[in-house]
Amino acid sequence: MQFYSTRNPALKVNLKQAILQSLASDGGLFMPEHIEPFKAEWWIEMKEASLPELAAEMAAQLLGTDIISNRTWRRICEEAFNFPLPLKKVEGNNYILELFHGPSAAFKDFGARFLSRLTSELQKEDLNNGITDVLVATSGDTGGAVAAGFLGVEGIRVTILFPKGKVSALQRLQLTTQGQNIRALEVAGTFDDCQDLVKKAFNDSELQQKLNLTSANSINLARLVPQAVYYAKAALEIGEAAVFSVPSGNFGNLCAGLLAQRLGAPIKGFVAANNTNHPYFDWAHSGKFEPHPSIATSSNAMDVGNPSNFARILDLFHNDRLIINHYVYPTWFTDKQAEQCTLSVFERTHYVLEPHTAIGWLGLEKYRSQEDFEGLGIVLATAHPAKFLEAIPKVVAQGIILPESMQGLNADKEHFTPLLPDFNAFKAYLMSQT
Ligand SMILES: *Cc1c(COP(=O)(O)O)cnc(C)c1O
Repeated sequence: MQFYSTRNPALKVNLKQAILQSLASDGGLFMPEHIEPFKAEWWIEMKEASLPELAAEMAAQLLGTDIISNRTWRRICEEAFNFPLPLKKVEGNNYILELFHGPSAAFKDFGARFLSRLTSELQKEDLNNGITDVLVATSGDTGGAVAAGFLGVEGIRVTILFPKGKVSALQRLQLTTQGQNIRALEVAGTFDDCQDLVKKAFNDSELQQKLNLTSANSINLARLVPQAVYYAKAALEIGEAAVFSVPSGNFGNLCAGLLAQRLGAPIKGFVAANNTNHPYFDWAHSGKFEPHPSIATSSNAMDVGNPSNFARILDLFHNDRLIINHYVYPTWFTDKQAEQCTLSVFERTHYVLEPHTAIGWLGLEKYRSQEDFEGLGIVLATAHPAKFLEAIPKVVAQGIILPESMQGLNADKEHFTPLLPDFNAFKAYLMSQT
C-alpha cells in the first residue's frame, strides 16, 4: 500500500515512511492510496467480532499488509484495544459511546496505544541508528494519551509541548509526572503555538538530519485508523444507520469516522460539533476557510483555530463543499450553552456530560431539530468527566469518581521545562538533548 500527500497525489511513500515521517515533505498529510470498501457480507460477518479482530481487519485494509502482516496487525490491535467501549442508551434515541476507558481517560488512548506499538514495530530494524524522537503538541488530552501509550517503549523518546495555564490540573499531571522517556515542555503560548513549533521542527532540514523525528499528533495517519474502528464497532452494535455527533477540534476524530463510512460501515452521517473555535463551521457556510488564533474555552481539547485534518476532509471529497455538507452537519456552541446542557441532561437522566461531550450532545439536538431527525444518534464521549472537574457545574460534579488510572497522580513528581513560543529556542532544546 502506498500513501500520497494531500498537497500532491504524485508524492507517494510506503507505510513506514508515512507513519515515521508523519507529515509529507511538501507539508501535506498522508492518505491511503486506495480505500477499498468492505463488502456487505463482511460487515454482517463482523457483527460478532471482538474489537481487536475488527481493528486488525480495518488496519490491514487501510494501511496494507505489505509491511505489517495480518498476524502482526492482530497482535498490535490485541495490545492496543485492551479496554472496554460501552455504548449506552441515555435518553430517547440518544446514545453515548464512552471512549474514555483507556489509561489517560480520553479517546486519544485508541490512537496513541496503536501508534506507539506500530512505531515501535516499524523502527525495530533501525534501533541501531539510535533513538526515535516523538514530538507532540497537546491542548490537553493528546499529551496524556501519548505519554501513557509510549511510556517505557524502547528506542523512543517523547517530547510533549503543552500551553501554559491552558490545561486542566489532572491533564497537567498526566503530562509532567511520567518521567522515564517522556519529557514535557511548558510553552508560554497557545495550543496553536505548540502545534506550530512541531510543524516547524518537521520542516527544519538540520533537525531532520540530526534526529529521527516523528509526530504523535493527528497529522499522523496511524492515529486515525484505530479511531475508525470504534465507529464501525458502534455502528454494528446499534444495528441501524445512526448519526454520530463528534466533539471536534483538530478534526482527527471526525476524519476517522469518514474513513469508517468510506469502508462501508453503516453510518447515516456526522455532526461536527465545535466550541467558539469554529473556522470549520464558517467554511461550511461560506466556502472561506479562515484560521484564527485559538480562543480558550472550557472544552480546551477543542480550542483549535486551524484544524490540521481539514486538509484530509477536503481530500476525501475532492474539495466538494456541498457533498461534505451532505455528510457532515456543522455546528458550534458556547461554554455557557455547554454548561446548561450538562445541567439539564443531568437533571433528566443523571448522566454526566463533561464539556466536550456536552457540545456533542448539543450538536446532535441541533441536528435533530433542524433536520427533523428522530432516528438513532450517537454522541461520542471523548473524555471522562473527572478530567474536567473544574469546568463542570458543582451540583453535577459532586458524584464524579476518579478512574483508577488517575488516582495515583502525584504533584510531587512534576517535572517540565518552560519554553517561549520561539522556534529557535525549541530547536536549541532539541539539539542540546541529543
Ligand atoms: C482531542 C479531543 C477532542 C477533539 O478531537 P479532534 O480529533 O482533535 O477533533 C475532543 N474532546 C476531547 C476530550 C479531546 O481530548
